[in-house]
Amino acid sequence: MSSIYSLQRPLGHAVPPPAWSYSGLREWRRCPRRWILRRCGYSNVHTPFYPDRLTDAAVTGLVVHRLIEKYDTSSAQRARSFLPRKEMANALHAIVKSVSGNPRIDTAAVVRRFDGQRCLANFRVFLSHFRRTGLPPPSNVTLNAEAKPRSEFLFRLDKPRITGRIDRVKNGLLTDWKSGAQDDTHVDQARFYALAFWLATGIKLTKLIVFYTRDGQSFESPAPDEAALVEIREALCAEIAQAEIELKQTYGEARPSVENCQFCPVRQLCDEYWQAEETRALRLSPAEADDEILTDVQFDVEAREIGLHTTMFTGTASGGQVRAVIPTTLLAVEPEMIISLRLLNIRASCQASSIVVKPVYGSEVFCDGRN
Ligand code: SF4
Repeated sequence: MSSIYSLQRPLGHAVPPPAWSYSGLREWRRCPRRWILRRCGYSNVHTPFYPDRLTDAAVTGLVVHRLIEKYDTSSAQRARSFLPRKEMANALHAIVKSVSGNPRIDTAAVVRRFDGQRCLANFRVFLSHFRRTGLPPPSNVTLNAEAKPRSEFLFRLDKPRITGRIDRVKNGLLTDWKSGAQDDTHVDQARFYALAFWLATGIKLTKLIVFYTRDGQSFESPAPDEAALVEIREALCAEIAQAEIELKQTYGEARPSVENCQFCPVRQLCDEYWQAEETRALRLSPAEADDEILTDVQFDVEAREIGLHTTMFTGTASGGQVRAVIPTTLLAVEPEMIISLRLLNIRASCQASSIVVKPVYGSEVFCDGRN
């Protein structure tokens, strides 16, 4: 089992990024601790970011985005044909290759669980929208003169120090594609891009569209005028300066909540998550174990029975006795050295007077061991 599953404390503070992306800023706003824990150094992590999980929805989103990008690029190059299935297979292959060294991702499962029909359905929604509304054909806007014609707009600015990639700009209209559900921050993101486009080109946009490929819904709003753009720029400069002061001095404020922590990829490292009243619903509650739920569990090991293929750890969590039956292959630390466990997405059920937890597909077993 990969050493990532041996819990290690951060080695130092995270350093400020060369430039802030919108998603990085959004993560900081939601929970500075999460931003920092994902970017700190650890003795068992050798990549710039702490390895993340990859959900099925995220794979769909990435593939749909790549399909649209490819379509735009081939349209801009006036290619005679575009083969969505072939491009989809290429996109999936590229994604799997990019995560092949990530010990938290089972690439075979990513391929097995991939829903190609869903991706194609999203892509068809994108195409039908073009036909229906007569949106402009792909544009050639790019800051990189060496690049092939494409509709994306890549930017990196100094004041504010921001970076990103705009899906499409044409005739004063900025379009951002989304394959997931609607979110309040999407319009704010489009305004962030409108600012970047104005600062990079001097051109003010007229309209912003956030388009949802899963159902064809879109949200349109007028682009910010110059006074609003200046205001956004100043607010971003101040926010980034403040964030960088904080991240040099602290490990960031933890903001535990169900919404923030439910899919947090570093909750196994976050002590506040395991203690906060606000996240109790995400952790094992003995009253709910009757329903064979998937939950997170933490406990100090009080006893262990080491078998040939599994070890049964016993301890107390959330007021109830817990027995965790863990296959040896999932233990990153020798069973006799483990002093506590943090188990994510584990199956819990009531048996006799205690709760039995067992890993299933998607479960993760993090071990804290004696030095
Ligand atoms: S578990 Fe919650 S509080 Fe902790 S870092 Fe993640 S989002 Fe923040």
